[in-house]
Amino acid sequence: MNVNRLATAAILAFVCFILFVYPDPQGDLYTILRYIVFGLLIVILYQFSTSDNDIYEPEKEKKEEKSSSINRGLDIRENIHDQYEQLLQMVFSVVMAINDKYKASFYMLDSSGSQLKIQSATKEGFKRSIPTDNEVIQTVLLQEKAVLFQQTDVRESWDGLFEEESWRGSECILGARVLYKNAPIGCILVQTDHFSTIQERDRNLLTSLGRFVSLSMVKLDNIEKLSQDNYFHYQIANLLNSMDIQSEVNGLYEKVRDLCRTFFNYDKLTISVKQLDGEHYKVVLEDGYSGDVDPEKIYSIKRSIHGRGFRAHETVESSDMNEEFYESGRFEEGDLENHDFKSILTVPVIVHDSVQYSITIEKQTSTRFSDSDKNVLELLALTFGSIVSWQQQYWKMHENAMHDGLTGLLNHKAFIDRFMEEINRANRYQHSIVFAILDLDKFKRINDSYGHLYGDYVIGKVANIIKEKVRNIDVVGRYGGEEYGILLINTNIEKIVPVAQRIIEGIANFPFTMDNIDARVTISCGLSEFPRHTDSLKELIAKADEAMYSAKANGGNLVAEFSENESITNESNSNI
Ligand code: GH3
Ligand code: MG
Ligand code: MG
Repeated sequence: MNVNRLATAAILAFVCFILFVYPDPQGDLYTILRYIVFGLLIVILYQFSTSDNDIYEPEKEKKEEKSSSINRGLDIRENIHDQYEQLLQMVFSVVMAINDKYKASFYMLDSSGSQLKIQSATKEGFKRSIPTDNEVIQTVLLQEKAVLFQQTDVRESWDGLFEEESWRGSECILGARVLYKNAPIGCILVQTDHFSTIQERDRNLLTSLGRFVSLSMVKLDNIEKLSQDNYFHYQIANLLNSMDIQSEVNGLYEKVRDLCRTFFNYDKLTISVKQLDGEHYKVVLEDGYSGDVDPEKIYSIKRSIHGRGFRAHETVESSDMNEEFYESGRFEEGDLENHDFKSILTVPVIVHDSVQYSITIEKQTSTRFSDSDKNVLELLALTFGSIVSWQQQYWKMHENAMHDGLTGLLNHKAFIDRFMEEINRANRYQHSIVFAILDLDKFKRINDSYGHLYGDYVIGKVANIIKEKVRNIDVVGRYGGEEYGILLINTNIEKIVPVAQRIIEGIANFPFTMDNIDARVTISCGLSEFPRHTDSLKELIAKADEAMYSAKANGGNLVAEFSENESITNESNSNI
């Protein structure tokens, strides 16, 4: 019972005493007053009897909230665990995309800080725990960039990393550290049988993979921290938790909109994205009031109130934007008068140290958005930014890992993956695909005569020539050292023979020149067709290979198609 109620009860008791007991007044007025007071007493007693429930209810609610917050905590923790598992899978899939001969493992420091414990690995053979004073591990944890060690250079420490005991000496290991709050907490180790298979590019990729995992650790930690705070924070933690790396950014806008709907009162919500030129932006999502934005239009950051978030790099707010700001438009000049908006709260979204998005809520009344609105919107923008940067970093890394560093074409693994996808698609739509394999003729001679760098230059140029001669929908990959693969979509061999001939002619006629050295190079091409020759990917490759070798056997610089009756048809290159 609170103080107000006690006071009311005391006053009532006093009035009752005056009316009913002392000094026992007579008359109609007093009788009416007695009835009124009696009626009031009944009402008040009823209030008091129900007020017990009022006191009880919040406790009940509190209890429910407490238990649901425990459930929430468990949900979130389970999800964090799933996210962690997913993260490890992704780390390994990127390592495999770089080179599928790599064996990878991921280690984290134990609570004592003296051992690294294995979290997961793509193959057996890695030690379950490694002391942190291991020389290799110490170096990896201290270096910003991924470090490369050859077995023969670090024999003793090497034995602390692997179960296996016999080594040839050519094996090597790449290690990249993972940080949390600027302190090393773990590492990714990648082992391969021969140092020659590791390129400088792979080192860079592994370094970014280490950074990516570091960023993910912060993300997972943020989810946990946010989920322990109040309702808003918990909702935002859910957003952070539910977005996985491969999600579409459009799905993210919609989730932000749903949260804004529950958090704020607004007449319009706008999410905008900065354009690559850095001077314009586009609206990617609007909610509420409509008709004031053209989603196709590019707006100027300089001349609009909505551009302020991008310019200021900090939250902008006003309850009378027309008066307070000098710009003569919300999105563009002159639109302030057409659409009567007064209050605005716009928060920049920072991704990789630059403002890439802004989230804006507006009202047509001049009621200021509260401090709590500002804090929650800023937290939402921060979370949005960290999800986007996480996704962008992953896709960049993934793209790099899928492409060959020398030619920019899909690497072998990515090409085969794509081949399988295209076969599935062709099956669904009853299309044919032609597979072409091309191998440079007598390429060893180029390397031997002019050096490996010259060979690299030729491999790069040939890739460009091939790309120029096929359609955009066709898929070109670096199939091997000086071998290329092409998937020619929805076509047949008859149509492709002239295309393939143009490719080999283009290469044969190209005047290769570097460092004042001129060279001529030829290539041989083998063709097979899906599903005409076979519906198996492996056999398609074998058949195209067979055709390509017959082209070489006939002197090279030829296109040959696979044919069932063993006699492979060689299409002569009349130009040469
Ligand atoms: P042919 O195909 O006509 O039978 O003869 P070839 O001399 O081309 O023979 P083969 O295909 O067996 O050899 C390919 C050579 O390509 C061997 C290797 O040194 C070279 N090579 C493979 N990858 C690269 C690379 O990335 N850069 C350079 N410069 N050379 C490479
Ligand atoms: Mg070859
Ligand atoms: Mg060759």
